[in-house]
Amino acid sequence: MVGDDPKIVIVGGGFGGLWAASALANKPVSVTLIDRKNHHVFQPLLYQVATSVLSPGEIAQPLRRILNDAKNVDVLLGEVTDFDKENSAVKLEDGSKVEYDYLIVAAGARHSYFGHNDWETSAPGLKTLEDAVEMRRRILLAFELAERQAYLEGEHRPLNFVVVGGGPTGVELAGAIADIARQALAKDFKKIDTRKTKVILFEGSDRVLGTFTPDLTDSAKKQLEDLGVEVRLNSFVTDIAPGKVKVGEDWIECDVVLWATGVAASPLGTRLVAETDKAGRVFVEPDLSLKDHKNIFVIGDMASIRQEDGTPVPGVSPAAMQMGTATAKNILAEIKGKPRTKFKYVDKGSMATIGRSKAIADVFGMKLTGFVAWMFWLFLHVFFLIGFRNRFAVIFEWFWAYLTRERSARLITGDAAELRNALLFLEGEEAVKILDERSERNKAGRSAT
Ligand SMILES: Cc1cc2nc3c(=O)[nH]c(=O)nc-3n(C[C@H](O)[C@H](O)[C@H](O)COP(=O)(O)OP(=O)(O)OC[C@H]3O[C@@H](n4cnc5c(N)ncnc54)[C@H](O)[C@@H]3O)c2cc1C
Repeated sequence: MVGDDPKIVIVGGGFGGLWAASALANKPVSVTLIDRKNHHVFQPLLYQVATSVLSPGEIAQPLRRILNDAKNVDVLLGEVTDFDKENSAVKLEDGSKVEYDYLIVAAGARHSYFGHNDWETSAPGLKTLEDAVEMRRRILLAFELAERQAYLEGEHRPLNFVVVGGGPTGVELAGAIADIARQALAKDFKKIDTRKTKVILFEGSDRVLGTFTPDLTDSAKKQLEDLGVEVRLNSFVTDIAPGKVKVGEDWIECDVVLWATGVAASPLGTRLVAETDKAGRVFVEPDLSLKDHKNIFVIGDMASIRQEDGTPVPGVSPAAMQMGTATAKNILAEIKGKPRTKFKYVDKGSMATIGRSKAIADVFGMKLTGFVAWMFWLFLHVFFLIGFRNRFAVIFEWFWAYLTRERSARLITGDAAELRNALLFLEGEEAVKILDERSERNKAGRSAT
């Protein structure tokens, strides 16, 4: 801590919190950034970890390292569980308290299961590195189990993947799974034909990527179908059980279900005892502060605020970054006795990738599709990775995957007990019996030698 400088506590080192901390670096304030993880994750590339293109370390960086030049910023590993607004302090999981003069809450959002949290075990969502590694494990394991069944029994049941939600994450996941099944994995498996893998994308509305214009979403649907994805629009998933999903009245069997829809803001919003919208986002004033507590700001995916034209500021990384920088500027201005300014979101366009050489983009007034849009997407993501020590590795991995269609990060982690559980989940009791018998035989063989 530096003398009597105003104390600023930032909760969350994602796009909003990290950008706020960077804008406050080496300024006459004392900053404490608290996050329950020790790293910042570049979430737009999580699906690349889930589908084996990149390794977790290539899209994440320790917060401490990113901020090591910021002499006035302390980084604390800890889970914020509550706020003591009367005494201007945040509470950590062990009951300890950190005091503030200004508080910036940027704890983000997760996917929502619309009241069916029990579906999460069967249909994981994608938000953290752990989620991405779990998805990768399930995807790769499904192919391994099919190969094993074909080896042991001479045939295997069809491989089906289901992705729920046709937003950017669902589209990216469905496209990437179809792509690896048809290209990267095809020559590695000897007993199964991975190219026959079925990938079904269920979307409740009548369009995928519904925030884009109809011509671009039509193109996205066609690009997905070209990759072999079956796109089912106007299809709501109404129930999920191990190995199957219910759509309308029909149960559809599948090996892996991935959840890519719904938004639920961090539950910390309710701990602030502030008014929230249906997704739990906190209603904030035009300067992103709370109505009754002008020294508390809520930013990024946790904030509910409208633009001048009445449309909501979207839950995307540029909005979170802009909110982080704007809040830091307002605090610094106020300390100097100057007035705060209203937050104004600058929309620089949007893009979504669908697969190798496939994307749509609405940038600089231009509507782009296919390879050109994909190049835009690729260069923009490389640009934003700048500052990450491993950006060269990422560029190399992409280039390699592009040229060879190879996926290098294809490790399944976990031990035999986990594999047994996965088998039970995907293949049922019979397959587990085969595994157990074989393992007993192996043990007997080892002890005989
Ligand atoms: C799979 C995926 C793909 C995406 N793709 C894109 C894209 O292509 N383009 C785009 O613009 N946006 C994309 N987004 C959205 C974008 O990532 C978010 O809008 C952005 O991360 C929001 O920033 P934030 O700071 O509000 O929250 P986050 O970046 O989520 O950061 C929240 C931080 O708070 C920490 N935290 C949470 N709770 C606590 C607690 N109780 N105590 C301590 N720390 C806590 C978390 O560990 C995390 O570090 C994507 C999101 C996901 C999940």
